[in-house]
Amino acid sequence: MSVRVEAVPCLSDNYLWLLKDGPTGAVAVCDPGEAAPAIAAVEEAGGRLDLILLTHHHGDHVAGVAELKARFPAARVVGAAMDAHRLPKLDQSVAEGDSVAFGAARAGVLHLPGHTSGHIAFHFAPDHILLCGDIVFALGCGRPLEDGGTEQLYASLRRIARLPPNTRLCCGHEYTESNARFALSIDPENKALRAEAEAAGALRAAGRPTVPTTLAQEMAANPFLRARDLEEFRARREAKNHFR
Ligand code: ZN
Ligand code: FE
Repeated sequence: MSVRVEAVPCLSDNYLWLLKDGPTGAVAVCDPGEAAPAIAAVEEAGGRLDLILLTHHHGDHVAGVAELKARFPAARVVGAAMDAHRLPKLDQSVAEGDSVAFGAARAGVLHLPGHTSGHIAFHFAPDHILLCGDIVFALGCGRPLEDGGTEQLYASLRRIARLPPNTRLCCGHEYTESNARFALSIDPENKALRAEAEAAGALRAAGRPTVPTTLAQEMAANPFLRARDLEEFRARREAKNHFR
């Protein structure tokens, strides 16, 4: 394992992700929704920034890019080619199957539409890291916001489900406790879910992030990854929108 990853809280409930490549000392951030915490994290990691990875165009994932780029002009900004018109200016536009160099490592690009049509994820396969933005959360999943989103989101979750179980899902938000309340309403007897919900409560009480989660944990507990088919997924996604 050469790439290390760390959640950095920003805005009210977002995470940006700080990555460091061990062999080369290269540093990357993913989804800087706010510049100040990203800059502080980069300074603490040694003051060098090589790469800015963007999963999708929403402001809470990209608003810090301009200031970061001004501060660290050598950083390359990487995002989806099909969303180039609504992303900050890209130095590298990518699509499904492309790869992004990061120090001695490489991230594979997965096109995982559903939350938005152009949403991508970055997969550091040898390090079992998936930077998955707003597609899947601990005990939850993103909201389909564009045409065809529900079907696309379901297909994207099926793809994630086939990754190795020890994949760490580095998602964009701290939604675990509220996701747990909904998940428990669907699947109250699920022991893995109850354990994850309890662990999340303890972590939050201690002021710590509940993510990354692992795919194995989510396959056992996440009602969206556990939906039997598209219809069940659709019903759960719809119910979650109205759940209080
Ligand atoms: Zn989003
Ligand atoms: Fe978001």
